[in-house]
Amino acid sequence: MIESSTKCVSSEKKKTIGDQQDRSRVAQWSVPQIQALLDLPFPDLIHQAQSIHRQYHDANAVQLSTLISVKTGGCPEDCGYCPQAARYHTGVENQDMLSLDTIMAAAQTAKAEGATRFCMGAAWRGPKQRDIDRMTEIIEAVKDLGLETCATLGILKPGQAEQLKQAGLDYYNHNLDTSPEFYGEVITTRDYQDRLDTLEEVRRAGINVCCGGIVGMGESRLARAGLIAQLANLDPYPESVPINYLVQVEGTPLYGTEALDSFEFVRTIAAARITMPKAMVRLSAGRRQMAETMQALCFLAGANSIFYGDKLLTTGNPETDSDKALFEKLGLRTL
Ligand code: SF4
Repeated sequence: MIESSTKCVSSEKKKTIGDQQDRSRVAQWSVPQIQALLDLPFPDLIHQAQSIHRQYHDANAVQLSTLISVKTGGCPEDCGYCPQAARYHTGVENQDMLSLDTIMAAAQTAKAEGATRFCMGAAWRGPKQRDIDRMTEIIEAVKDLGLETCATLGILKPGQAEQLKQAGLDYYNHNLDTSPEFYGEVITTRDYQDRLDTLEEVRRAGINVCCGGIVGMGESRLARAGLIAQLANLDPYPESVPINYLVQVEGTPLYGTEALDSFEFVRTIAAARITMPKAMVRLSAGRRQMAETMQALCFLAGANSIFYGDKLLTTGNPETDSDKALFEKLGLRTL
């Protein structure tokens, strides 16, 4: 499945690569295969990713999602990157669940700014039944605005995904974060299998899966290959794949981690695009730290979705005006 590192790819060859990727829903990607992709000379890797991208997507269009934190801080988990974990002193103020009116006002603003998907995050280990009841009311109201809905609420118990589906939830986000081997370096309060089980619940309920990871946490290239392999080998692979660049927040254990080279981030985007050709690959956290040129490289590598709006859950995101200016410079349209 790995293209030669030195030859140009003919159109016939491109078709073959595309056909192979299309079958990746049943074929397995091995970690060495993905590592070989990540090891390609940069121009060959970008060429391959862009070739596949053009077979499956409009290469000049980007989808916009807006993310809001509907319940902030005080989380009992210990994710080493997260300023919302109660055990880390990061200055994030706890915020109980927002009112329906507040969330609806944010959704209306997001829609007016051009977002097509409204993502709602809550800092829970997992939702209680009363949280599900409130979320179903919110999901129904946001759907009525004509926006796609996405929620990230933590670990789901059996039956909860079905309730969210009945309310009209389009996507559930639950990231694998990193490779199974590196995972224990970052999180100890929930297992990798817990995450896979929640993804299974989401799939079974018929909700689209949004699942990705974070790079720049001190992991090796092998670990990044391991993450992409896990994602690509989900059957089927996620419809939406957010790739986050660690935002280092003072007070979290990962603060002070050696910064990942920008090109490694772009390589990870390219590997996600090649192995999950139909997925929307989302440039997620960390965009504020990226130069415009790096963001442009990410689009060339196959990213075709961004979080839009000046704040992610608790960390900064580029201003919408600067995103509009960048899109203008690059000639990108929004989906
Ligand atoms: S990433 Fe989610 S589960 Fe982990 S500490 Fe933060 S809010 Fe809690």
